[in-house]
Amino acid sequence: MRVTWNGGTLTFRLDAEDEITGQAADGYPVKLRTNSCTVHGVPADAHPDLFAVAAWSIVAPWTRRRIVFDRAISAELAAALHEGWGVEAGPVSGTPRRTGSVLAISYSGGADSVAAATIHPDAPFVHFRRVPHPRVPNRWTHYRSDVLAKLAGRTGRELTVVDSDLEFTLAEPRPGYPEHHAVAAGALLLADRMDLGGLAFGYELGSRWLGGDRYLLRYTPDNPMWAPHGAWGRLFAAAGVHIVLPVGGVSEAVTMRLALESPLKDVVRWCLRGVDGPCRTCGKCLYKELIQAAVERRPLDTPITVKRPVARKWQEPPPYGGQEMIEYGCARVPGIEEGVFGKAAGHLRATEESTAWLDRCYPPALAEIPSPWRDTVEKFMIDNVGLMTPAQARRVEEWGA
Ligand SMILES: [Zn+2]
Repeated sequence: MRVTWNGGTLTFRLDAEDEITGQAADGYPVKLRTNSCTVHGVPADAHPDLFAVAAWSIVAPWTRRRIVFDRAISAELAAALHEGWGVEAGPVSGTPRRTGSVLAISYSGGADSVAAATIHPDAPFVHFRRVPHPRVPNRWTHYRSDVLAKLAGRTGRELTVVDSDLEFTLAEPRPGYPEHHAVAAGALLLADRMDLGGLAFGYELGSRWLGGDRYLLRYTPDNPMWAPHGAWGRLFAAAGVHIVLPVGGVSEAVTMRLALESPLKDVVRWCLRGVDGPCRTCGKCLYKELIQAAVERRPLDTPITVKRPVARKWQEPPPYGGQEMIEYGCARVPGIEEGVFGKAAGHLRATEESTAWLDRCYPPALAEIPSPWRDTVEKFMIDNVGLMTPAQARRVEEWGA
């Protein structure tokens, strides 16, 4: 793989051994659509290691053995690429970037992200906004990135919106981040200007420790995407921007509660389809409604019936993506036996007691937060959430076993 930055425009060329269909760090297959994209509004004089990590977050899935950058990277960054992915990276020269002092939040506007923002009330936001690609037709006009950016602007926080078409480098499964970390491409390139030493993401307990969503569905202490000692954690650290997961120790029930209690509650938005509010009819809205209903201790309020395609997977037996939250919801939502989640509830037979661990913070998640920000998160969790008992922490560690 050879990559070239021209201003904020990245062009990459595959070597003979590279492949059009590659794999993201979570093992998911991703197919290349086009070999260029732009990250708008980024400084031309960012440290070469920042350009390299931003490029790697886009081209990693398709790179097999080596990567040649257009400007020399530090030996430390080359080592992180080699240790993490087994690739030869170069050319090598110069010194690594000094770690900055500021923590910024990679802000999506969803409940997890708002919860992370609540923990760090002074942290600036960097918000990624999808814009059209000049050569790829946009068949995804229902995806309202403009609405999310507008809501981010109403938070009152110091905000940088980074426009990019990088998601259109993906043909399959659909436009999206080639690696989850590509959402940070803009923040990385702005790291010198913002003096960033850390970038906080809204990944919660399920994503960090339980192999949630499209991943493995089992306890993942060595999660390659989000563990500080994983390939991505070490690569970001080598570029002086530590990955920070303020809500990495708590479930989506806790992030939902924190978001609904937050001063930012009126600008929370997890659905990318609705204009004046969430669409209420997509799979994500249904999943989040279950969690919100559980947190608010009320019946489910949804127009979705068991016959709808988005409800189909809940008519099948487990395992489910995000299953811990389905258990949590089924144990707490009055009247769950009727309706969309009735079958799932029958299979899972969860109780408030069996899901009580999901109301507390997993202590090892605090231990892995870099020291400049650990005390803030720890104090917040002790004051507002409470820590898991050893028996509850074992529920995390036995997940999927
Ligand atoms: Zn929706």
